Amino acid sequence: MPAPVLCSSCGAQRAALRRPKTGQALCRECFVAAFETEVHNTIVAAQLFQPGETVAIGASGGKDSTVLAHVLRLLNERHGYGLHLLLLSVDEGIARYRDDSLAAVHRNRGRLDLPLHIITYQELYGWSMDRIARHIGPKNNCTFCGVFRRQALDRGAALLGADKIATGHNADDVAETVLMNFLRGDVGRLRRCAEILTGSEGALPRCKPLKHAYEKEIVLYAYFQGLDYFSTECVYAPNAYRGHARTLLKDLEATRSSAVADLVHSGERLAVRGDIRMPTQGTCQRCSYLSSQPLCKACLLLEGLNRGLPRLAIGKPSRLQKALLNGEKPQDNLQGEEDSRQSSRHLRTIDF
Ligand code: SF4
Ligand code: ZN
Repeated sequence: MPAPVLCSSCGAQRAALRRPKTGQALCRECFVAAFETEVHNTIVAAQLFQPGETVAIGASGGKDSTVLAHVLRLLNERHGYGLHLLLLSVDEGIARYRDDSLAAVHRNRGRLDLPLHIITYQELYGWSMDRIARHIGPKNNCTFCGVFRRQALDRGAALLGADKIATGHNADDVAETVLMNFLRGDVGRLRRCAEILTGSEGALPRCKPLKHAYEKEIVLYAYFQGLDYFSTECVYAPNAYRGHARTLLKDLEATRSSAVADLVHSGERLAVRGDIRMPTQGTCQRCSYLSSQPLCKACLLLEGLNRGLPRLAIGKPSRLQKALLNGEKPQDNLQGEEDSRQSSRHLRTIDF
C-alpha cells in the first residue's frame, strides 16, 4: 500500500487535499490557515480597510459572500482591524431562488452575530425581478438585475451609514468579467473590473477581499468550516452571457491550470491608450446616482419598464432613448415612433 501523503506544510498530518491554486498537498488545518492568511495578506497589501470604518458585506446567502462574512469577522477579531461589520442583502424578488438564499443569510446572521439589513427591488424600483422577467421574456434579465443590484447595494449601504462595501467576488468571477468585457469591447469596464478597490470617483468604495481566492478553494474552505450556504443557481442564469464566459474559462482552465490567475493578471495590467475617450462621471438628473449620461442606466431601464417598452435601454439606441439620454423631454411623436419600432421588430420576428 502506498504511504499516505503528508501535509507539505506541517509534515505531521495526512494531506486532505491538493490545493487547486498551488498544487500543494495540505492537511485540513494548514489549508484553512493558508486560506485565511492569504485573505489577510490581500487586505493588508491593498489597504482595503481603515480602522473605525463601517463595512457593509454584500450577503447573498451563496458560498462566496458566506465565506467572506465568516473570514472578515474572524480576521477583524484576530488582527484587530477595528471594523464595524454588517450584512446587507438585496432581495431581487426571485421566487424559488432569492427567498431560499435569504433564509441562509438569516441563519448566518445568527451564527455571525452581525446586524442584517435587506433592501428589495420592489421597494426601490416598484418592480420585482419575477415581474420584470414576465414583462421582458427570457432574455436580458441579468441586464436589469445587474444594474439594479449595483444601485441597490449602494443605496442600502448609504442608508446604513457604511463607509465601504465588501463583495464576495472571487478570482474566477474577476477572470470571467475580464473575459466578458474583452469580448464586448467594453473598455471602460475592462479597466475597472480587475481593480480590488473601486469607487474613487464619488461612489461608495467597493472592495473584493476574495479577489485572489479560487472558487474551488472557497468551496473547500466553506466545507471544512461547516458553513451554511445556498448553492442553487438563479432561475434566470441559463440565459446569462456570463455563463458562456464561465464555460470558456473552464475549458481554458482544463488545458492551462493558471488561466484564472492569468486573466486576473491581464485585467490588472491592461492599459488603455491615452487617446481613447473614457466616459466622464456625472450624476443622474432623475435619481442623483453616478452616471456618465444625463440619465443613469437604472433610470433608463425603469423608464422602459414603466412605459411598457422594456427594450428601450437595451441594444441599439432608439431616438426615444437618445432624447431621454440627452435630457430632453420626449415628444409624443417620438414615443409613437418607438412604439412602432418595437411592434415592427416584433412583427419581423414572426413574419419572416
Ligand atoms: Fe439577477 Fe441574473 Fe444573477 Fe439571476 S442570474 S440573480 S437574474 S443577475
Ligand atoms: Zn438615475
